[in-house]
Amino acid sequence: MIKNKKISKFAISIVEELQKNKFQAYLVGGCVRDLMCGITPKDFDIATNATPNEIRKIFKASRIIGKRFKLVHIFNRSELIEVATFRSGTDEAKDGNLVTDHSGKILRDNIWGTLEQDTFRRDFTINALYYCPISRKIEDYNSGINHIHKKKIVSIGDPMKRFSEDPVRSLRAIRFSNKLDFKIDKDIKNAIYKKGHLLENISNARLFDEFCKIFLGGIAEKNFNKIVSFNLSRYLILTDSNSSDFSQQLIKEALKNTDKRVENNQSVTPGFLIAAMLWPELLRKSRGNKEINLRKFFRSMDQILREQQKITAIPRKFHSYIKDIWVLQLKLHSRIGKQPYKTFKHPRFRAAYDFLLIRERASSCYSDLGEWWTKFQRNNSASQKQQILNLKDVSEENSFKKFGFQEELI
Ligand code: ATP
Ligand code: MG
Repeated sequence: MIKNKKISKFAISIVEELQKNKFQAYLVGGCVRDLMCGITPKDFDIATNATPNEIRKIFKASRIIGKRFKLVHIFNRSELIEVATFRSGTDEAKDGNLVTDHSGKILRDNIWGTLEQDTFRRDFTINALYYCPISRKIEDYNSGINHIHKKKIVSIGDPMKRFSEDPVRSLRAIRFSNKLDFKIDKDIKNAIYKKGHLLENISNARLFDEFCKIFLGGIAEKNFNKIVSFNLSRYLILTDSNSSDFSQQLIKEALKNTDKRVENNQSVTPGFLIAAMLWPELLRKSRGNKEINLRKFFRSMDQILREQQKITAIPRKFHSYIKDIWVLQLKLHSRIGKQPYKTFKHPRFRAAYDFLLIRERASSCYSDLGEWWTKFQRNNSASQKQQILNLKDVSEENSFKKFGFQEELI
């Protein structure tokens, strides 16, 4: 049923090598699920009964990573394959290799087990399929194949307990159901409603990883809508309790834009989305008398990023990107003298211009600013000059302080 042609040769060679060394080894998880559903997997994971140290000895180009959950990364020039040792998911020895906190959240899981035990510690039945590319057999202890045919996301074990062990499973259930167009089992829906709040205790680093999977995979808008319907958006995004129509619309437009870029194989960055998600809050904090108070604007930028950091980590490299986009919004409103040329030369002009278009789309007020900049980029220098001269009469409008569409400032 599964075509080996669709599987990374490197991944198959790792399975072969482990089996040659008398270990069990299988492709597992998302890649088997995706292959069964006719989707090209984005990466290949392997599960084996070899321990991390044993794996390390077989593969020179490899590295043990993680503490909470030890894994081995095996590299070649262009690929990285993750190899995990089977886990038992229980701690009979009680020797500290499986640690949970008071809410039942698993803090560490490094107890090795058998293939069968390993299937039960996975999250959903469709993610617990093990495929051997040599014998071409699938091991399925939890009716995963049946659930793929029925297009259902089903938890392995009681979802209330499983989502307490790891609250991120709530977000994963939503993500997989949208990606595959599968229904979420009733028990899981209940567990999301009851245990979703435990996402508050998840580290910001892990939530940033999940944020990227949710919003940079090509179905950001669909994922966002479902996350909102389960009332979980606050665990990913700093949101204002009475967020305006504009703010909701801005997020939607930014997500649509991201999805379109993924579809067209253009690069996407979480920085752009975070900039959009936090923009209304930045304006709210910078409000002066009817207009934007620049001092507050500059002061609030870092403060807002710090608040978002408490929810999802934002790697350093995105901070300056986000702040550049924000500051450039002010500059795009200023079209006097040499300013437009300077703005245009800024290395992040393009992202800032895209951001402006999204603000305009989200706002119901008319603005000619985006169109003006669209022309400015296309025009030769004589026409650019003329464009600036034509604005003379409306120079009042160009003042820095008046920037922003009225609607954004409400
Ligand atoms: P994708 O890579 O498309 O997001 P995936 O299913 O491959 O989906 P990964 O996060 O790469 O997801 O994890 C690989 C496998 O590891 C999963 O299929 C699942 O079996 C197991 N797994 C991952 N995260 C969890 C979790 N939080 N709880 C239980 N099992 C998990
Ligand atoms: Mg995966």
